Amino acid sequence: MKTFIIEIEGLVQGVGFRPFVYKLASSMGLEGTVENLNTGVRVMVNSNNESLEKFVEKIWSESPLQSQVESVVVNEVSPLHFTGFSIITSRNLSEEITRISPDIAVCDDCLADMEQQEHRINYPLINCTNCGPRFSIIKGVPYDRPLTTMDRFIMCKRCSAEYNDPNDRRFHAQPVACNNCGPVYSMLIGDSEIKGINDIIKRTAEIIERGGIVALKGTGGYHLVCDAMNEDAVASLRKAKEREGKPFAVMCRNIDCVKEITHPGKEEIETLQSWQKPVLIIEGKNIVAPSVSNGLRTVGVILPYMPFHYLLFRKLNTGVIVFTSANLAEEPVITDDEEARIKLWSIAEAVVKYNREIYNRTDDSVGRYIAGAVRIMRRSRGYAPTPVKIDFNGEGVFGAGAELTNCFGMGKGRNLILSQHIGDLKNAPTSEFYRTAYGRFAEMFRFRPEIVARDMHPDYLSSVFAEKLARESGIPVTVVQHHHAHIASCMAENGINRKVIGVAMDGVGLGNDGKIWGGEILIADLCDFNRIIHFDYVPVAGGDYASQEPWRSGLSWLIKYADEDAISDDLPLIKNTGHEKFKLYTEIVEKEINTSYYSSAGRLFDAVAAITGLSHTSKFHSEAPMRLEAAIQKGITTNYGYDINGEIISFGKTIREIVHDLKSGISPGEISARFHNTVARAIVDGITYVSEISAITDIVLSGGSFQNRYLTEKIISELSSKKFYVYYHHNIPMNDGGLALGQVAVAAARRDAGMI
Ligand code: ZN
Ligand code: ZN
Ligand code: FE
Repeated sequence: MKTFIIEIEGLVQGVGFRPFVYKLASSMGLEGTVENLNTGVRVMVNSNNESLEKFVEKIWSESPLQSQVESVVVNEVSPLHFTGFSIITSRNLSEEITRISPDIAVCDDCLADMEQQEHRINYPLINCTNCGPRFSIIKGVPYDRPLTTMDRFIMCKRCSAEYNDPNDRRFHAQPVACNNCGPVYSMLIGDSEIKGINDIIKRTAEIIERGGIVALKGTGGYHLVCDAMNEDAVASLRKAKEREGKPFAVMCRNIDCVKEITHPGKEEIETLQSWQKPVLIIEGKNIVAPSVSNGLRTVGVILPYMPFHYLLFRKLNTGVIVFTSANLAEEPVITDDEEARIKLWSIAEAVVKYNREIYNRTDDSVGRYIAGAVRIMRRSRGYAPTPVKIDFNGEGVFGAGAELTNCFGMGKGRNLILSQHIGDLKNAPTSEFYRTAYGRFAEMFRFRPEIVARDMHPDYLSSVFAEKLARESGIPVTVVQHHHAHIASCMAENGINRKVIGVAMDGVGLGNDGKIWGGEILIADLCDFNRIIHFDYVPVAGGDYASQEPWRSGLSWLIKYADEDAISDDLPLIKNTGHEKFKLYTEIVEKEINTSYYSSAGRLFDAVAAITGLSHTSKFHSEAPMRLEAAIQKGITTNYGYDINGEIISFGKTIREIVHDLKSGISPGEISARFHNTVARAIVDGITYVSEISAITDIVLSGGSFQNRYLTEKIISELSSKKFYVYYHHNIPMNDGGLALGQVAVAAARRDAGMI
């Protein structure tokens, strides 16, 4: 008999890993101990070589579903004596990274317990080592009950017995609770407070059924819910939320119900049912109330993930409810009960809450099936803060992220900790959330900044924060151009570190020349880049309004490219704007008053959406490109003309032909399809040219425009047929939510190269 120390790293805390090891060792008759360290899990075991081999093999192959074993290192030590196998309570040993589990959707065993276990009948916060809240309730590490928002709930005898029984599924499940000892739900309607879960469920269902709106506390923040089949209810929710346009997600009773309202594929069904339970954007069937998707063809769908959701659907007749985060305008989703009461009473008839604090806010994550796989576009609940593997040393590098859809990132050795979705920093409460989250992440992950990477735009609040952090810590700042960061983010996610052709198709990002970029083909490595080809610059007036008012881009593109006598009333855009405004705008642009030069795919898509009359003003981020994509008529393979002159791709011909098509009565759907085909062909031509002059065949696609499924699939399929190697995103957002990873990758590469 020998004594071995087995160190297991990966996502192994808060996911039932120690009980799993305990059960495995006990079943094999091995003696020893298992404990959590900040680095992962450490097992000490007495065994012969043969059993050890089997034991380690099973650690790899039989570990809990939600865990992620990344390495198992075995060392023999001098013999120790153990009595049986035991679990040692956590202690705080090293300063290294701790894996903090994301929140996990309720498991099937718990749903069954909710109907059978005497002390947990209809207990709406039931959980076990395989499921339940994690990140959202964690205040510190190591992950133990006193360092969670469960700290104030004292376990009853039965829960405590389960918590201490290594053979129980709730052994060391930190949020373990029951009807007798755990947090409870309550419901506020007007001045009265309703208690008792059965009454709360009944009243909630009643309100939804008759077209009312309820605010419902979720895992990482509040939601607003109403009947998704009731147009009046959805329309009034839309009005109340102060955002008339943005599509709402809907929660479906089950997967059959998802199939009734959308066309999900195999991968989408799998991801919807995964323990992360994200929202997926799927091709809809026009069955839910029109106001849900508000003119888009897709529907954001999610399945129940909290016990409460399942209890609610038992009572509801409708199989689909609107399930949208409870926030006003662009503020962060509400997590605080008092704030919910004050801010949501005018929207919702009732507020349903529970008395356990949400410590770390998380939004629902969002994904979309594009080019053969589900891609994560908003990485939050269920995904954050799972570390992202990087194959360079990122230690001490802070990536501040962008201004919109911000996430920040922290390098910890060969991991990147990407924050949950923070949001649009222009909003004061959101930038406050950013600062708070930074402090918490730095503490939880014991992050000590050594280098700060920020966007080239000095006025982004993330840039301002980064500069301040660097000043206060006396550490260097490195500036990373926005689209270089996008490409580096995709390179880092795919583990490549060599010269590539980077295609950045994006909304806006400040370029090296002080103009606004977002339509580039670069030759890049992690340290630096050269812009080889870019979309032609077009001046757009109005500063920040340019992105909110697509008509500005529409007029700008017409002014620059269309024949003067073709700009007339029979164009939807001119009809919508009026001659006076058109003349005035032309003058402003010619005099360059508050005008910026854009070489941006986002603006080009805005322009075409406006010219075709599909979108005039945007009520939410990227509305115009989304409407343009939604309009695409299927089966159109033709495209418009375009020019590539040296380093410039010009869509002048495209615009002129679109104007001609509009005047000939061609539908916006057909025009949109042709336009998408045109942009895809132009990009592929550009790539082909850059590949010819550079002999590079690795193509990296990133930037917000690659959320466009049609465009992305077209480009990838054309590139693949030309024998290029195409790299695209999977789990890291292609939009600005993934930017921090690129910033960290660039900063780390520059440090390795001695440039910082
Ligand atoms: Zn469970
Ligand atoms: Zn209990
Ligand atoms: Fe961007």
